[in-house]
Amino acid sequence: VAASGKAEPLKVIISGAPASGKGTQCELITQKYGLVHIAAGDLLRAEVAAASENGKLAKEYMEKGELVPNEIVVMMVKERLLQPDSQQRGWLLDGYPRSSSQAAALEDYGIRPDVFILLDVSEDILVERVVGRRLDPLTGKIYHLKYSPPENDEIASRLTQRFDDTEEKACLIFLVKLRLRTHHQNVDAVLSVYKDITVKAC
Ligand code: ADP
Repeated sequence: VAASGKAEPLKVIISGAPASGKGTQCELITQKYGLVHIAAGDLLRAEVAAASENGKLAKEYMEKGELVPNEIVVMMVKERLLQPDSQQRGWLLDGYPRSSSQAAALEDYGIRPDVFILLDVSEDILVERVVGRRLDPLTGKIYHLKYSPPENDEIASRLTQRFDDTEEKACLIFLVKLRLRTHHQNVDAVLSVYKDITVKAC
């Protein structure tokens, strides 16, 4: 994009499964390019916190882990994208679109990203990341037994074990795979719209 010498601010959509490292990438990208980070989930949580009419409606769906209806989400995201700061600095959109109709709505408004980043991490690796994840209840720091092990035995001994028998572990793996399936269905639905501008990273 830099090489193209474009004067327009950068517009990016990012998509990544749970535990794909999307949060970290979003931080790095927004810092590097000075973009406004717009996360659909954050916008919705702000509406819920404000107890607006939309927020009250959205809450019912979010509690069930279901997609909030387009009538609420589409306008909310569109308005945020058109705010002066997003227009001036460019934006990184995260958690939207999650369906072909949500992608189509952006297209209808003439809102098109320069690039669609797809964090393409294999299911085995995602499961391994989630299963090995540990929390230090004292500092709040997140560790991974293999990839980011605790600094010493004292910390290691107090890390919270989210599950200690194989049955719980199997249940966790099942849930991770279920969430991944939903994610892949969502991604497949929007991928065709952005095929020509998709960049895969892992
Ligand atoms: P998660 O990755 O767990 O889905 P998010 O913060 O992205 O977390 O979203 C939280 C909830 O907000 C979702 O479960 C869903 O109910 C709602 N939500 C987020 N983005 C969208 C969207 N694009 N369309 C509809 N609902 C959404």
